[in-house]
Amino acid sequence: MKNQRTLLMIVPKKNDKGKPIDDGLTKMVKFIIKFSKVDGHYKGSHECICGLKSGSAKYVLPNGMETNNLIVHYAREHRKDLRLYPKEIEKIINVYFELRKTIDVE
Ligand SMILES: [Zn+2]
Repeated sequence: MKNQRTLLMIVPKKNDKGKPIDDGLTKMVKFIIKFSKVDGHYKGSHECICGLKSGSAKYVLPNGMETNNLIVHYAREHRKDLRLYPKEIEKIINVYFELRKTIDVE
């Protein structure tokens, strides 16, 4: 269960970005990242296989999970790779509904 404290800290392996996908999953990820806060910095910065840099900021979700600001990029443009991580997709869905419950959506 060592990945339970992180969300979408994945490394896309194939550089075959598809067309950006704006579906329900992308919406969930956008919703989640809105509620994350920068909490310190990593040594060095992460770079996606396609060359996009995430910077070194560490993002933390209200539930304490760590994530990074590339998660929307992964969900929209590296969906093929994301599908290789079904557990992460499950976590996105769980975190999304958990957040919706705790945050008043006007
Ligand atoms: Zn990328």
